[in-house]
Amino acid sequence: MNKASILLVYTGGTIGMKADPVDGTLRPFDFGEILREVPELSKFAVRLDTYTFDPLIDSSDVEPSLWQAIAELIRERYDHYDGFVILHGTDTMAYTASALSFMLENLSKPVILTGSQLPIGTLRTDGKENLISAVEIAAAKDGEGDALVPEVAIYFNAKLLRGNRATKVSADNFSAFRSPNCPPLAEAGIHIRYNREHILRPSGRGAALAIHTALDTRVSILKIHPGMTPQLARTVLCSPETRAVILETYGSGNAPGKAWFLDIVREACTAGKILVNVTQCLEGTVNMDLYANGKAMECAGVVNGFDGTTEGTLAKLFYLMGRSRDNEWVKSMLGKDLRGEISK
Ligand code: ASP
Repeated sequence: MNKASILLVYTGGTIGMKADPVDGTLRPFDFGEILREVPELSKFAVRLDTYTFDPLIDSSDVEPSLWQAIAELIRERYDHYDGFVILHGTDTMAYTASALSFMLENLSKPVILTGSQLPIGTLRTDGKENLISAVEIAAAKDGEGDALVPEVAIYFNAKLLRGNRATKVSADNFSAFRSPNCPPLAEAGIHIRYNREHILRPSGRGAALAIHTALDTRVSILKIHPGMTPQLARTVLCSPETRAVILETYGSGNAPGKAWFLDIVREACTAGKILVNVTQCLEGTVNMDLYANGKAMECAGVVNGFDGTTEGTLAKLFYLMGRSRDNEWVKSMLGKDLRGEISK
């Protein structure tokens, strides 16, 4: 039987960081050292090739240009590999995974992001298990030889999560990610158990991979909070630089019902901007029909973001706005489940 082939892509992040001898801060080091720390990888029945981005970054420096470069790399190498593992910092891993899920259409191979909370060179590192299992998942096939997980996913601390449903929930636990509105795609114990009924299959069987690298990033995020001033709301919602705003609202999609706030929301919607409602809660969905305050936003023209994460909604907007200048079309697509990012 042919060995599975995996491309291991290194972008930076704690997994490959070392303490700077001068100030003790963590900085990325080279890929060769990561591989030396995990000799177990050579025991796998997989052919592992590597690709390193230059410069390696702390993922808090991530920009959409990195997503475009990763998508291009996958396009170039797609036919040569059975799966892709991307080593990435945890801070923005959910943003990158969300963006890639939209940018890679008709994906039939796994794209698994992973990283760690402790550098791979440290004794208690979580990086080894994360990396080894991510490679195993990227190489896993069913009886027909199709990839078991043809999705962009995050593997972390024994759980495989849909990338555009995941969010970083802990700055210091090994269990750093959760996807509260979507069950794990797989869980690793003695065996890796795949939740096959939750794993998406490519829609058009045999349809070729399509890469969408045009992204329109003119999106702002307004987290609704007590004490928010009209000046702040107006600056964010009505700025000429902004084409869309994600409103992070309370509970099931509520925001102040005060006249000044609704006037600003109405003004932004009338100017043609796309306003999307997602909840600040980790779990659950927006339902603007439940309370008068939510209904008022819906009547003003705010679009429902359902149970999408902020990261997933931001990436969806970048992608949809990159595809069309027509804001009405973008709004209509926000209500559709494109890559498993909302429950509909
Ligand atoms: N600051 C690091 C990064 O996101 C944190 C990590 O990787 O865990 O690159």
